[in-house]
Amino acid sequence: MGKYDFVTAELNALREQGLYNTIRTIGSSVGAWTVVDGHRVLNMCSNNYLGFADDTRLKEAALNAVREYGVGPAAVRSIAGTMTLHNELERRLATFKHTEDAVMFQSGFCANLAAIPALAGKDGVIFTDELNHASIIDGCRLTKATRVIFPHRDVDALAKALDEHAQAPRKLVITDGVFSMDGDLAPLPGIVEAAEAHQALVLVDDAHGEGVLGSHGRGIVDHFGLHGRVDVEVGTLSKAFGVVGGYVAGKREIVEYLRQQGRPFLFSSATTPADVAACIAAVDVLERSDEEQRRLWDNAAWFKARMEELGFDTGASETPITPVMLGEATTAWEFSKRLFQEDVFAQAIAFPTVPRGKARLRVMISAVHSQDDLAFALEKFAKVGRALGVI
Ligand SMILES: *Cc1c(COP(=O)(O)O)cnc(C)c1O
Repeated sequence: MGKYDFVTAELNALREQGLYNTIRTIGSSVGAWTVVDGHRVLNMCSNNYLGFADDTRLKEAALNAVREYGVGPAAVRSIAGTMTLHNELERRLATFKHTEDAVMFQSGFCANLAAIPALAGKDGVIFTDELNHASIIDGCRLTKATRVIFPHRDVDALAKALDEHAQAPRKLVITDGVFSMDGDLAPLPGIVEAAEAHQALVLVDDAHGEGVLGSHGRGIVDHFGLHGRVDVEVGTLSKAFGVVGGYVAGKREIVEYLRQQGRPFLFSSATTPADVAACIAAVDVLERSDEEQRRLWDNAAWFKARMEELGFDTGASETPITPVMLGEATTAWEFSKRLFQEDVFAQAIAFPTVPRGKARLRVMISAVHSQDDLAFALEKFAKVGRALGVI
């Protein structure tokens, strides 16, 4: 028996179950067309909703920040001081989101790891949607709080659970804003009402709503007109914003509390000046114009409608996330492989990320896709779909 035998056994088990993840290699910037494993392919699986990952305005801002501030913050903000850039981004995000304040973290994942334990405490109760993101699940695991997992988007079940825990000293309701695998929305107005009736805090993770939903991409709270009624908005700067980082926006007191108690803020270095400057430039662009956001929605509407005409099932998405439902994992993998041979990069998603029998390609539409790009994709989907007997 070697000491690594369990690792080898688990890797083999993943391979046998078809769950082994072979990561593709990107050899260019991420745009409509991207070099993947040496081939130039139409990119339909990045979260680059608005094309900001390779936007000239963001790149210029990043380059200037490197010249002025260097490449790294060289410390944890609470210990060795925080750069003016990080403070500026936080102010800009708060203004953009119409919240009192915002605090930045290294990623959206870190933002949840910071916010959830700090807000739930030891004796709180967390009410969490069963399909919430892994970073929420892990944030909950870092607390000693009681966890109540409610059925997906089920406000009645949530209200009942809140009733049952009426005496809990702290109550925190957590939901994704946009659920990333299906593209459906949280029933946020109902969730907020239920929470208000029970003195519970609401945390919404708006990772796939930012830049996508609401006026100028202000997110799901803006989309539903709930400003001031959602206590905590967790955001990522690595999807529509095109950069990397995360944040929490909300009431001044809560944000201040996370600067004091959010462990990734206290014990891990800040993001780099280049990242932060690029994010500030992204806020500039979003505040000035909703041109990219409009193009994103137009592209998504056009592509979904044509796919449905072809006979594909594009699920229950309410956002530009376009699942192409294929059923068996083997069909999804084969579909993705053949598309790649046809120069279209769309990733298959299967169990355990989605339930068994619900395998799909998750097509991510972007504002950078041109009409020609979408028509090209459509032709290839039709070709592979017919070859595999899906349509
Ligand atoms: C992507 C995602 C995250 C993680 O964001 P990163 O900035 O990539 O760490 C968190 N929550 C949800 C709902 C996400 O979709």
